[in-house]
Amino acid sequence: MKKLKDVRAVKMNPLVSIIVPAFNEELVILEMYKRLKAILEDHQYPFEIIIVNDGSTDKTIDLVRTLCKRDRRVKLISFSRNFGHQIAISAGIDRAKGDVAIIIDADLQDPPEVIPRMIEKWAEGYDVVYGVREKRKGESVFKKVTASLFYRILEKMAPIEIPLDTGDFRLLDRKVVDELRKMPERSRFLRGMVSWVGFRQVNVKYVREERYAGVSKYPLPKMLNFAIDGILSFSTVPLRVASALGFLAASLSFVLLMYGLIVRFFYPAKAIPGWASIFVAVLFIGGVQLICIGILGEYLGRVYEETKGRPLYIISELLNFDE
Ligand code: UDP
Ligand code: MG
Repeated sequence: MKKLKDVRAVKMNPLVSIIVPAFNEELVILEMYKRLKAILEDHQYPFEIIIVNDGSTDKTIDLVRTLCKRDRRVKLISFSRNFGHQIAISAGIDRAKGDVAIIIDADLQDPPEVIPRMIEKWAEGYDVVYGVREKRKGESVFKKVTASLFYRILEKMAPIEIPLDTGDFRLLDRKVVDELRKMPERSRFLRGMVSWVGFRQVNVKYVREERYAGVSKYPLPKMLNFAIDGILSFSTVPLRVASALGFLAASLSFVLLMYGLIVRFFYPAKAIPGWASIFVAVLFIGGVQLICIGILGEYLGRVYEETKGRPLYIISELLNFDE
């Protein structure tokens, strides 16, 4: 610990790269910039703010272009279409120059005022400082319950430890950023990937605020997709569940067979035509088979996506990146 601290002491004024994914955030992006700039300048951190415009169809891009003209420290990566939150963050990570990178949502749900506390932890020698939501304001009971359930299921299934109740609001040391860049997978569940990378990780607790303005860009189907990605990218337990279901169905049918034989030979009077039980058994096994094929398909689909080897995202515009 002491030793690590000495290493960091050399870089007391780290270059801070802030990565902000933004999809149709015209109502919040300027306020976000203001709050970020205030807090970073207050602490005299040199910084760059990388805003990743994830195919917005509103005025987000125009607003960011204006910001870029006014302040060279604001950089724009614009995608050719909407590629999704996790990929937008990845694009930011790919171009971040900082000694530390901080991922933060554009909607001010993650308060920028937590950033100095994260940097303090980093200066103590930690490589990943992730925000843990102590409270979530302004989110529906449904979202809170499903989110909490999801994190607990994932914890049971994934062989790596993914901290509970964390989002993508986190600080990454340069070396973590460099490792993440080497991970080319398409189904990106970044909070899992960061855990997978390892190094010294620590949390800071914060209260998740309400969205400053606008509406959530994560409707239920997108959330569900994200949750499934999270589980399938980090766990093969579902495949094992499929086999378990298969065994269960097979055992059950064996028991039924025994029962049928016993009745047939020892109590022939009671033997009834029994088409109903056959009907039920066929349906049951059919159902189990379909479930298992579905699970296989989910993995296979992801293998297919990976083998195509397409780029993760396509950039249509870059501003204030000098290289
Ligand atoms: N976002 C994105 N691409 C998307 C969806 C969301 O870049 O396809 C961004 C969005 O602009 C915001 C962050 O991801 O900065 C989190 O999204 P949001 O706040 O809508 O999600 P919630 O907080 O409701 O889960
Ligand atoms: Mg939000």
